[in-house]
Order: sequence, then structure tokens, then C-alpha cells
Amino acid sequence: DATLTVSVHASPFRSRFVLISVVDRGEFKRLDDIRREFVANVSHELKTPIASVGLLAEALQEAADEPETVRHFADRLGTEAKRLGDITREIIELSRLQAEGALADFEQVTIGDIVEQAIDYNRVVAKARKIKLVSGGELDSTIYGDPARLVVAVSNLIANAVHYSPDKSQVGIGVARRNSFVEIAVTDQGIGMTKDEVERVFERFYRTDQARSRSTGGTGLGLSIVKHIVSNHGGDIRVWSSPGKGSTFTIRIPEATQ
Ligand code: ADP
Repeated sequence: DATLTVSVHASPFRSRFVLISVVDRGEFKRLDDIRREFVANVSHELKTPIASVGLLAEALQEAADEPETVRHFADRLGTEAKRLGDITREIIELSRLQAEGALADFEQVTIGDIVEQAIDYNRVVAKARKIKLVSGGELDSTIYGDPARLVVAVSNLIANAVHYSPDKSQVGIGVARRNSFVEIAVTDQGIGMTKDEVERVFERFYRTDQARSRSTGGTGLGLSIVKHIVSNHGGDIRVWSSPGKGSTFTIRIPEATQ
């Protein structure tokens, strides 16, 4: 229910012209709501680690002459500091992507190179948990894009796939050309998600209950970042998932025409 306000003004510069301004109040309000909600979410997400840092500092002071306890609190302080760093970095990245829109500096890139780098970023964590990263398909496909951002997008999907998978399982990264689009599908055999959860995964800060209860905490911003990168490339992202069986996240980006 958008409300368009059309105003006609006499031009202050030349009497022959009139100025017509069209303002979509509905869109204004929608963007303002999104901004307010984002600020509220950010404050909420930062409150907990900030409060923890304060409490841990107090606890450290009180435990000054007990080395074991000091080490324990210092460890937790390190974890909270890392979390604050992760959240801040991802919020900044998300704002940059929103501000930059589709105006980024694009070049022709080969998907195989992107996939290889994204796998490299995740190799150490995957190896530690004996998870196999297997890539295949039409890796010679090309698209126009920002290589660094594309690596972040694919790498975030692989990181999630690894994160939410059992040890000794497999994560597949498959590339296919279809209807002038290049598709990159990241498939895991992990915990999967229900239909309701799938619908919410791209919301900022959204994490499923299962993800929240895991000790290794994510930020809930990774997929929002992926979605923005993909839409800045004129593409989209889709999810298939089944609880207990696994998930597939598929990115589609227009193929580069030679
Ligand atoms: P996070 O930092 O928590 O991983 P994301 O935005 O990347 O944030 O993902 C949002 C939520 O979606 C995750 O917390 C998790 O609940 C769910 N999710 C994402 N990827 C997967 C996956 N491959 N398997 C199961 N759940 C996933």
C-alpha cells in the first residue's frame, strides 16, 4: 500500500518550467523501518558480549591471586573479544555492500579460481574435523564480478556447510551452466533445517535454535552478506534443506557473454 505524493512547484529558476517531485512515502517508511530494526538488532547483539567483558574484568580483579582462575577468565575474555570483533567486522562489511550496490569494480572471473580460493580458506577447519571438500562440474565457467567478494560469498557457504556438519562427512561444491546463468551449489550432509527455519536464514542475526546452542558461536550475519554479494552481481540464492539430512545452498549469477 504505497502512497505516492506528487507535488507540482513553480520552478525557482525559469518561469517556463515547473518542478514535479514524486515521493513514495510507503517506500520511505519501509526503509526507515528496516534501518530502525537493524539498529535495534545491532544494539541487542552487542549488549551481551559487552556486558560479559565488563563482568569478566571484575572477576579477573577478584581472582588476581589464583592463577588457574585467572587463566580461565582470560580465555573467556579472549573469546568475547573475538566475538565482538567478528560482529563489528561483519556489520561493517554488510553496510559497505549495501552502500556500494551494483557499482563495484567488475572483471571477468573464472568460477574455478573462486571455488579453489574459497576451499583454501576452509581447508584447515575441514581437515581438523576430517570433512572432505570436493569440487566438480563446469569450473571453467566465467562471470563478470568482483573476485574478492565472490570468494567471500562461496567461502561463507562452505564455512557454514562445514560448521553444521558431522565429523568425517563430505561437503560438495558443484558448478553448472544453466539458462545463461552459472550455478554454484554447496551441499552438506549436516544438521539441516526445518521449512520455517529455511524461510528465515537470510534475516540479519537470525540463527536456528540448534545453531545457537552450539558452543562455537556464529554471528547470524554470514548469509545476509552472501545474499547481498549475490544480488549485487545480478543473481540470487536458494536453499534446499531437510532436518537431519543436510542442506544445499545454490547461488546463481548471470554467465559472462564473450
Ligand atoms: P552464522 O554465523 O550463525 O552461521 P549465517 O547467517 O551464516 O550465520 O547463518 C544463519 C543461520 O542459518 C545459522 O545460524 C544456522 O542456524 C543456519 N544455517 C546456515 N547454513 C547452514 C547449513 N549449511 N546447515 C544448517 N544450518 C545452516
